[in-house]
Amino acid sequence: MPHGSSLERLRETNRRAITTLLAADGPMSRADLVRGTGLSRTTVSSLVGDLIASGHVVETTDRGRPHKGGSGRPPLLVALTVPAGVVAGVDVGHGHVRVAVADRRGGALAERTDGIDVDPDGAATLDHAARMVREVSDAAGVPADDLRAVGMCVPAPLDRRSARLGTGILPGWRELSPAEELHRRLGVPVFADNDANLGALAEVGHGAAKGSTDVIYVKVASGLGAGIVLGGRLHRGTTGIAGELGHVQVVEDGQVCRCGNRGCLETLVSASRLMSVLQPAYDGELSVERALALEEDGDAGVRRVFSDAGLAIGRALADLCNSLNPEVLVVGGSLGASPSLRDAIRSAVDRYAQPDTAAALRVVAGQLGKRAPVVGAVSLANARVGV
Ligand SMILES: [Zn+2]
Repeated sequence: MPHGSSLERLRETNRRAITTLLAADGPMSRADLVRGTGLSRTTVSSLVGDLIASGHVVETTDRGRPHKGGSGRPPLLVALTVPAGVVAGVDVGHGHVRVAVADRRGGALAERTDGIDVDPDGAATLDHAARMVREVSDAAGVPADDLRAVGMCVPAPLDRRSARLGTGILPGWRELSPAEELHRRLGVPVFADNDANLGALAEVGHGAAKGSTDVIYVKVASGLGAGIVLGGRLHRGTTGIAGELGHVQVVEDGQVCRCGNRGCLETLVSASRLMSVLQPAYDGELSVERALALEEDGDAGVRRVFSDAGLAIGRALADLCNSLNPEVLVVGGSLGASPSLRDAIRSAVDRYAQPDTAAALRVVAGQLGKRAPVVGAVSLANARVGV
């Protein structure tokens, strides 16, 4: 590897640290950038020079809020430029399509959710999603040709090489390449990724892990998956399916999993499994929402079952934490709202991870809830479309 290219990679990483900090905290002085990134004054000054030359940042005296200083000139700040145009995020979940139209910094302009059954027919769902993008853009007062790119969440692992969904998960989508199909309907670049990866992007950019560069986002819902951010970038792996935490084997001869293996963690902790474990003890159908309400009221059975699930998830996460040494673990998905589950993940990580690794880790609830995938889809579109 020639020396020059590794040096350029380092500069690129450092430029990204600066733009990430500006995106998270808004305009700031060069001195603030030195403090926030840990880079030297000389390096920050040189990289800011690069970013001004490439049009990614500008100098300004406007902090976006009133200047508090007394007399004298306001300090010269560095700010990200806001490129023209808008992007859209499309979240295709198992029972809904959610669409957000946002500016090039990710600020939402309009958003809408339609409840539809997306599983049986991928093509009809994508027709519906394309129509929603046009209608939500209209509602935001955005002319059609202002749309620059679309980020899209698909509710299953996506193979980066074929751009198709993983096998055996959504039969009605089997022959489709979702990004290519939506691109054909809308005429702009479309970038697709799975819900755990986009949840990670969303919580790092706008939620519970804002400003952190080494983050694991675990989504606990109808499935179990993790999105991994390392050095500020999403780690997708060779084929895009890194973080398949749900398919860590925990019972040698356990229940057969939808992936074809036996005893996967997901077979023990998915929302449907937990509801079926709890159901016999309750009258009337038990939904996740109802179980969370019961937990809040102090129901011992729900607390016990959610806590046991958290211990099993935390045991698997402890190994991942030992390998990656993350700063933040964000617990998202519908069951991420359960304090019993989160507390148990924390206990298991403390028990099974190397002590210094556990001590360095914060375990927090996701802040974006059901909006995480669509916020992540907007972030993906903005990250990929360039300036
Ligand atoms: Zn499995």
